[in-house]
Amino acid sequence: MSPDTAPTYYAATANDPTRYPKLVGPVRADICVIGGGLSGTATALMLAERGHSVVLVEAGRLANAASGRNGGQLIAGLSGEGTIKRQLGDAGTRLLEDVRYRGIELIEERVAKYAIACDLKRGWVEAAARPSHMGALKAYYEERRALGDADHLTLFGPEESEGVVGTNIYHGGIIDRRSGHLHPLNLVLGEARAATTLGARIYEDTPAIELTGGTRPRVLTPAGSVEAKTIVLAGNTDHKFTRGPLLGVQLPIGSYIIATEPLDETLAREINPHDYAIADSNIVVDYYRMSADRRVLFGGRCNYSNRDPKDLVETMRPRLAKVYPKLKDVRVDFAWGGRLGLTINRAPAIGMLEPNVYYMEGFVGQGVGTSHIMGEVIADAIEGKSDRFDLLARIRHVRLPVGEWAGNQILAAGMLYYRMRDLF
Ligand SMILES: Cc1cc2nc3c(=O)[nH]c(=O)nc-3n(C[C@H](O)[C@H](O)[C@H](O)COP(=O)(O)OP(=O)(O)OC[C@H]3O[C@@H](n4cnc5c(N)ncnc54)[C@H](O)[C@@H]3O)c2cc1C
Repeated sequence: MSPDTAPTYYAATANDPTRYPKLVGPVRADICVIGGGLSGTATALMLAERGHSVVLVEAGRLANAASGRNGGQLIAGLSGEGTIKRQLGDAGTRLLEDVRYRGIELIEERVAKYAIACDLKRGWVEAAARPSHMGALKAYYEERRALGDADHLTLFGPEESEGVVGTNIYHGGIIDRRSGHLHPLNLVLGEARAATTLGARIYEDTPAIELTGGTRPRVLTPAGSVEAKTIVLAGNTDHKFTRGPLLGVQLPIGSYIIATEPLDETLAREINPHDYAIADSNIVVDYYRMSADRRVLFGGRCNYSNRDPKDLVETMRPRLAKVYPKLKDVRVDFAWGGRLGLTINRAPAIGMLEPNVYYMEGFVGQGVGTSHIMGEVIADAIEGKSDRFDLLARIRHVRLPVGEWAGNQILAAGMLYYRMRDLF
């Protein structure tokens, strides 16, 4: 593992060691994508597939931020459904139906088409952490059933929990057999490779330091520049182009994962009999799954004030032991954290910063699927088919335009209320 790579289970099992060059000198392209996470790479691949010439610039290494550090849960739908329905009415409801499985479909298609080895599996569970949480899960199930879309969904009660998720701490839950899980870093690396085979040019260690929109969009980097017809900003929490409408739209939230030693087959089958990805229904969510080599990747402990815990393993281990008491003394081989982009209303933020400069960010904890949906929405908009883009760009976001530090303190104070609610 090179020192500029996060010490994650994913980096240790990455299956493509390619280092892409730094950009030196001026280049031209139809589209310049800024950011080489899930969003930027998925978008670059889609645009390259459609015959556009694409340059992608990544400040560090591909997927070294949230995209290569996340829980790998591939979840149907968008975050912030309530906001989207409330603000956009029937059109919003139709759009949500239209895109609900689109991220999953795109990933499944690409994994098959480009033979991307990223341990993709179907099966995801939302487990009720409180008896009262079953109400919302039942309502979701009934809504899907009324639409004739519940064949892949199964509700289960508390007495069935152990057989479904290998622990009896839950009060039931819902199984979604279309959602699933994967190795997100290997997905990004596979998509990046596929994009380059279609002619896209990728540059690592190449931060965009200035961008101009308008009639002659241009991206400046420390040793080069990209002249393009269109720029797509996919820098998530790390980009610094937060002036104007983006200031305070999303805040970076810490989330943390530990990966245990590989478990023997019998124990692995006992604690996760169906190899599902699992998330509980709390606001401060526990999320976990097995890796392909039978480690438990256990995530959670979102940190709204953005101060990382001093000892990640000791912070996370009690949560793991609560869910699976048998794992209380298991060896932990990897522990890491990352920053996800949280919008206050939890809906994705997508729009235009200037003429010919698109942005997308703030996918909260559903960025694996959402990045692919938004990549397609923006690719369509660039080609003049902008109905879905226009609708999503109408979502009004609460802004905390007070700078990141102050924003995180306000958020942490607000979240105390929800943390308390998780306890009762
Ligand atoms: C610990 C953790 C667990 C999570 N678990 C899940 C999960 O299980 N399922 C799920 O769906 N989502 C999950 N998420 C959220 C998900 O990872 C993100 O929503 C998603 O990765 C966002 O992808 P992105 O490409 O938009 O952003 P990022 O992954 O943050 O990538 C942005 C990239 O842009 C680059 N960049 C920024 N500025 C510039 C610049 N000026 N020039 C060039 N490059 C730049 C950065 O270096 C970075 O590589 C999790 C997030 C975290 C942190």
